[in-house]
Amino acid sequence: MGKTTGFLEIEREVALTRPVAERVRDWQDLYREFPQESVQRQAARCMDCGIPFCHNGCTLHNLIPSWNDLVFRGRWDEAVAAMHRTNNFPEFTGRVCPALCEASCVVGINREPVTIRQIEKTIAEEGFRRGLIKPFPPSAKSGRRVAVVGSGPAGLAASQQLVRAGHAVTLFEKNQRVGGL
Ligand code: SF4
Repeated sequence: MGKTTGFLEIEREVALTRPVAERVRDWQDLYREFPQESVQRQAARCMDCGIPFCHNGCTLHNLIPSWNDLVFRGRWDEAVAAMHRTNNFPEFTGRVCPALCEASCVVGINREPVTIRQIEKTIAEEGFRRGLIKPFPPSAKSGRRVAVVGSGPAGLAASQQLVRAGHAVTLFEKNQRVGGL
């Protein structure tokens, strides 16, 4: 827990959305920039709960209190590593997940919940910006071939894990582009 009184002193802040008139002209991010320092401040609101209900709310069981603390301390390399222990694609989930973790956050019982999704997205972006997100080629090939049907997030994540385990993966998709719906 980075700051023991963070949840008492700091109010929730989130990135603002860009105006609709601007958004309909491009494919850029829905949200405006949210400074890294503000994200670290928001991470200080996490109470590192004895029973972190955010874990249950998250369908990936992301290690949320751990990476909140690491982000608060600016230990981005460890935050990226902790994130990828449970989540193959925080760059997706940090943008489009409905954030059931936030709905489950204990701070949300009588205050606004921790901005978990924003923190997740920032870990992914800082990871790319700092060159911390790299391929993990297998140390040995298994000689086995695996077919994965469907290229949504589950198919992509399964493929990534299988390749890391040394298997040769072919990913099938009925549509013209990968990525699922
Ligand atoms: S429930 Fe909220 S305050 Fe508690 S550990 Fe999870 S993110 Fe932090």
